[in-house]
Amino acid sequence: MKRREVLKASLGAALLAGGLPGLAGAKAPPARVRPGAAGWPAAADWDRLARATGGRLRKLASPFAGCAGDAAACATLREQLKNPYAVGDDPALTQTSGWQDAWLSQPSAYAVAARETADITAAVDFARTHNLRLVVKGGGHSYKGGSNAPDSLLVWPRAMNEVTVIDAFVPQGASALEAVPAVRIGAGAMWIDAYTAVTTRAGRYVQGGGCTTVGVPGLVQGGGFGSFSKRFGTAAASLLEAEIITADGQVRIANAHTNPDLFWAIKGGGGGTFGVVTRMTLRTHELPEYFGGVFGEITATSDAAFKALVARFIAFYRERLFNAHWGEQVSLRDGRQLHLSMVFQGLDRAQAQAAWKPFLDWVRASGDYNFKEPTIMAVPARRFWDADFWSKTAPGIMAKDEREGAPSHHAVWQGDRGQVGWYIHGYESTWLPAALLEEGSQARLVDALCAASQQWWVELHFNKGIAGAPPEALAATRDTATHPGVVDAFALAIIAGGGDPAYPGMPGARPDEAAAHRRATAIRKAMTALRAVAPDAGAYVSESDFFQQRWQETYWGPNYAKLLQIKRRYDPDGLFTVRHGVGSEDWSADGFTRTA
Ligand SMILES: Cc1cc2nc3c(=O)[nH]c(=O)nc-3n(C[C@H](O)[C@H](O)[C@H](O)COP(=O)(O)OP(=O)(O)OC[C@H]3O[C@@H](n4cnc5c(N)ncnc54)[C@H](O)[C@@H]3O)c2cc1C
Repeated sequence: MKRREVLKASLGAALLAGGLPGLAGAKAPPARVRPGAAGWPAAADWDRLARATGGRLRKLASPFAGCAGDAAACATLREQLKNPYAVGDDPALTQTSGWQDAWLSQPSAYAVAARETADITAAVDFARTHNLRLVVKGGGHSYKGGSNAPDSLLVWPRAMNEVTVIDAFVPQGASALEAVPAVRIGAGAMWIDAYTAVTTRAGRYVQGGGCTTVGVPGLVQGGGFGSFSKRFGTAAASLLEAEIITADGQVRIANAHTNPDLFWAIKGGGGGTFGVVTRMTLRTHELPEYFGGVFGEITATSDAAFKALVARFIAFYRERLFNAHWGEQVSLRDGRQLHLSMVFQGLDRAQAQAAWKPFLDWVRASGDYNFKEPTIMAVPARRFWDADFWSKTAPGIMAKDEREGAPSHHAVWQGDRGQVGWYIHGYESTWLPAALLEEGSQARLVDALCAASQQWWVELHFNKGIAGAPPEALAATRDTATHPGVVDAFALAIIAGGGDPAYPGMPGARPDEAAAHRRATAIRKAMTALRAVAPDAGAYVSESDFFQQRWQETYWGPNYAKLLQIKRRYDPDGLFTVRHGVGSEDWSADGFTRTA
C-alpha cells in the first residue's frame, strides 16, 4: 500500500471509530530525527524540556563508558549487573543485553526520569513536536528490546512506584454498585512492590507476574501471567482502570465505561504501543490459605524409558493437575531428564502430596529412573513474597537487593537470577491446545515433545495457558485483546537459550556468534518438531521469537484488526512503535523510518 493510501486508511479508520480531534489526518514525516541530523532539537529546546520536567531530563551514556580504563570500576559494575534491581535503576540498561542478529541494548540519547504525569506529558509533546523516536521503559524486561532504542528520547517513570490498596474502588463513570477491592499501582512499580502491599501487608491477592522485578504496566499490557494464573486468569483480566497519555499528549482514563476501546487494547495489545501508562488499578482477590511447590528431577536410563516417563506425566497431568490449583513448569532436559518446578495454590501440603502420589508411585515402582524424593512444600500464602520469611525458613530461595538503602522487600527468586543481563541466542514459544491432552491425542503430543527435546530443552509453562481455569477467570481473560487461543491452551511451550551478559562496550564481553547460531538452529528445529502437533497455535507476545513469522496472527489472532483500528485512532503517526507491536508493520525494524 502506498503512503497516501495508508493515510487515507488511517483517517478513515479514525473517523469510523469516532476520530480524535488533532490526531486524525495529521501528517507524519517519513523518518524520525537522529542526533546531528537536521531537525534534531537545539540545546535551547532540551533546556526547555528540562525546565518543563522539573530538571528531570538526563543525558544518557553507557555505564561502561564511565569505567573504561579502570578495571576495578568495571569489575564492580559487572558485579552489580547480577542484581536486577541495580540494572532496573539505570535508565541506560535493560534486563536483557541483546539478541543475536536482532538487537543490542543501547541507551537513549536522553531520558525523562518522570516523577509525575506532567513530566510524561511534556516528554510526549516534545517527541511529537520534534519528530523524535520515543521509547518507554518500565522494568526493562522486554526480550525483544521494546524498551530501548539508540538516538531516542526515553520516558522512564521508575520513581512513580506508589502502591495503594483500596477497599472499594469505583472506576470513573461506573455506578457505586460496581465497587470492588482493588490496588492502584504507579507505572514505575515492580510486581514485588504490588505483592508486598497487597499480599504481605493487606492479606489479599493481585494477579501479576512470576518474576518480582518485572514492571506492572509492561506485563499487564502484554497480557502476562503469574504462577497462579490458572486460578485468576491473566494479569490483564484483572485490570479495572488505567491512566494513559496518548500520542496527542492527552491524559486519558481508560476503563470499561470511559475510552473502552483503549481499555481493551491495553489489556494484552502490547506495551509501548498505545501511549504511556502512568498508573493501573487492578482488582484484588481473596488470598488462598496456602501457596506451595513441588521441585525435583527424574532421570530416565534409556530413551524408551524417557518416552514412557513423559507419556505417564502427561496422562497424570491431565488427570490430577489440569485444574486451577497447579501452575508453573516442567522441562524436558538433556540427559533424559524431567525437571519439576511446579507451584500450587489452595491446597495444603498433604493434599499436594496426595495429588502427586500416583505418579511418584509409578516412578518408584519402575526400575528405569534415578531420582531423589521431590520436595513438596506449602507456606502460608501471605508469606509467599516475604523475603524476611524466606531468609529465616529457607535461605537461598529468595535473594535480597543488598545495596545500601534498598527497600527491605526487594528480593528476587534465585531461579530468575540466571536471566539477568543474558544475551539471547534463540527464543520460541507456542501455546499447546488442551485438545492435545485428550486420550486419543496424548501419544502425538508425547512424540512431539520427545522429538523436540532431542534438539533443545523444552519447557512447559502450565500457568501460561488458561484452559482448566474457573469460568470467571476464563471469561475475564476472554475479555482482553490477547489471542483467544490462550483460553483453549493448557500450557505455553517455551524453547530458548542464551549466553552471558554482553552489553555493548562491556569489557570482556564477546558473544560466541558461532555457538549462538548453532543454538538458534537447534531451538528452531525443536520448535518445528513441536509445532507439528499445534501448527496454527498462537504465542505470547512478550515471550516469543524476535523473528516471528505472521506475528499479527500469532500474537492476537482475530483481535488484530480491531487493535490496529484502535492504534490508528489514538496514534495514527506511530509515535509509539515497538518491534512487532500493533501498527509496527508501517515502520522499519529500528522504528525510525516509515515504510508504508
Ligand atoms: C527475567 C524475566 C522474567 C519474566 N517473567 C515473566 C513472568 O513470570 N510472566 C510473564 O507473563 N512474563 C514474564 N516475563 C516477560 C515480561 O512480562 C515482559 O517482558 C514484560 O513486558 C516486561 O515488562 P517490563 O516493564 O519489566 O519491561 P520493559 O522492557 O520496560 O517494558 C516492556 C514493554 O512494555 C512497554 N512499557 C513498559 N512500561 C510502560 C508504560 N508505563 N506505558 C506504556 N508502555 C510501557 C515498553 O515500552 C516495552 O515495549 C519475564 C521477562 C524476563 C526478562
